[in-house]
Amino acid sequence: MPSRSIVQSRIERRCAEKGLKMTGQRRVIARVLSEAIDHPDVERVHRRAAEIDRRISLATVYRTVRLFEEAKILERHEFGQGRARYEVVPDSHHDHLIDMTSGAVFEFHSEEIERLQRGVAKKLGYRLVDHRLALYGVPLKGKGRLTGRRAAGEAK
Ligand SMILES: [Zn+2]
Repeated sequence: MPSRSIVQSRIERRCAEKGLKMTGQRRVIARVLSEAIDHPDVERVHRRAAEIDRRISLATVYRTVRLFEEAKILERHEFGQGRARYEVVPDSHHDHLIDMTSGAVFEFHSEEIERLQRGVAKKLGYRLVDHRLALYGVPLKGKGRLTGRRAAGEAK
């Protein structure tokens, strides 16, 4: 899939820019992370990485994820379920909605919300440079869950 290899080369290029040495195991973990669309936690990343290379330990995944996070290649999210979740630092800003029943994470962008937030900051005397917004919800009857575009990646 061409889109995957583009993402993969981007994460590997970022690693090279930051001077991170890419071992075989790090490359596998980087690939798993770049292919993930579900904001996985470390254990999920480990399960997927171990499917590719059984020698990759949970401790190695923890270390590598921390390394990528410190290098600002990975973004860490606290979605309130006790485990940090990760995604490759996106090129463009988005916010998240968390399905509290399944833990699925959906991405969205609302220009209206962006504008409102800039307005609030401005009223308080600030120029907005960053924000984090997470919505927490339960599916409406007959909706939510599998209707979300990110739900496909939940399987493992
Ligand atoms: Zn995201």
